[in-house]
Amino acid sequence: MKNPELKKLNENRILAEDVFNGKEKYAEVSGWVHNSRELGKIRFIILRDFSGVIQITAVKGKVTEEIFDLMNKLTRESVVSVKGKVVDSKQAPGGKEIIPDEIIILNSAEDLPIDIPFDPSGETKTELPKRLDYRFLDFHRRKIQTIFKIQTTIATAFREFFQNKNYIEMQPPCIIGSASEGGTDLFEVKYFDKKAYLAQSPQLYKQMIACSMEKTFMITPVWRAEKHNTTRHINEIRQMDIEVAFAGQFEVMKELEEVVKFIAKNVIEKNKKELEMLGVKLKIPKAVYLSYEEAIKKVNGKPGEDFTPEQERKLCEKYEGDIVFVHSWPSSLKPFYIMPQNENKNSDFSEGFDALYGGMEISSGGQRIHLPELLIERIKSKKLNPKNFKDYIDSFRYGAPPHAGWSLGLERLTQVICSLNNIKEATMFPRDKDRLNP
Ligand code: ATP
Ligand code: MG
Repeated sequence: MKNPELKKLNENRILAEDVFNGKEKYAEVSGWVHNSRELGKIRFIILRDFSGVIQITAVKGKVTEEIFDLMNKLTRESVVSVKGKVVDSKQAPGGKEIIPDEIIILNSAEDLPIDIPFDPSGETKTELPKRLDYRFLDFHRRKIQTIFKIQTTIATAFREFFQNKNYIEMQPPCIIGSASEGGTDLFEVKYFDKKAYLAQSPQLYKQMIACSMEKTFMITPVWRAEKHNTTRHINEIRQMDIEVAFAGQFEVMKELEEVVKFIAKNVIEKNKKELEMLGVKLKIPKAVYLSYEEAIKKVNGKPGEDFTPEQERKLCEKYEGDIVFVHSWPSSLKPFYIMPQNENKNSDFSEGFDALYGGMEISSGGQRIHLPELLIERIKSKKLNPKNFKDYIDSFRYGAPPHAGWSLGLERLTQVICSLNNIKEATMFPRDKDRLNP
């Protein structure tokens, strides 16, 4: 299609949804051939665009022969543009259909390598790995589009919530010169003649912003070189983070409670159709606060140990649909930069927390250590070398207030809100230990 024609198509095109909502007697629609069928002398196409589907109906003798012939030659998922009369029809889905005067094939689709069910909310017969190999085609499915419409609401609501509270949006670096948390789970990259890493967290950087501009939020990718094979881990993650000065674990847990409620409210209001298609009944969660010691008892766990995935599920089941905040964890289970309870270096407990929702951890956070000497002690007690953290420690020497923050996984939250079995369903282009493409 040449420039002027494409311009005209773009200008005149209306969405399927608007055909139903509007009063147009004549419409030009463009989209994908979702389905086609024949019934005696009538041929139908269901045309799909991002807004919905509309039926194109051709009766032999009432449309040109050329159009009638074309109608059953169109392969599924071919891209077409259709001009025609809009008429009311009791049989057509949505009560309206288009009688075509002109059909232009913009691109014919070859045989589909994965199963795209006819029923938009239907299950595909293709397994997830193969669907991910053809992710671009999987995105043609309305059910998959639905997940990312909801994810858009989640990310937008997250931004809106913190913008309204005057937080600074930050863009942390993704290539870093040294390990931020001292772990070994980093991807190495070549950076000119130096060794560098993909950031596994924006930890140090967001602390520097909180210690100067007080309140910051971000949505940023992070990478973890862990060889997971679970339904809730990927190797490239989008994290929604905040960091706040003059705050402790309880203040930032409250922010997390409020933002998750705000996100749920937005999804319920803006994505009613999408939640229905996924068969999800979402409620605005209440928040439950338990100390680590209370929580580990409730699931018969061993004090001093992390919750198993099974225990996380059990704890959430006790508070169905709500967020469970487990605060004041043992220091031994939290990173070195988490403040010991009440700034007491001899305490076995910390000012660190996890938040569980929908059966799994969605967030970790806590108060950070802003006192260089205490930080050095904690680094040593974790058998790490303070020399490797010199820049980090030094950043707290020139006026660093107490501060706290957390990280909330965008894909995990999407997985929970959409009730998906696998986190990869909530990731447009997931990266796992075997997958780098597409
Ligand atoms: P888990 O114990 O569940 O593996 P974690 O404690 O290692 O998670 P954190 O370092 O606390 O993860 O990261 C903060 C948040 O980022 C997590 O609560 C989770 O929502 C998300 N997240 C972390 N690692 C992953 C991952 N590999 N895949 C998906 N999301 C992740
Ligand atoms: Mg965690």
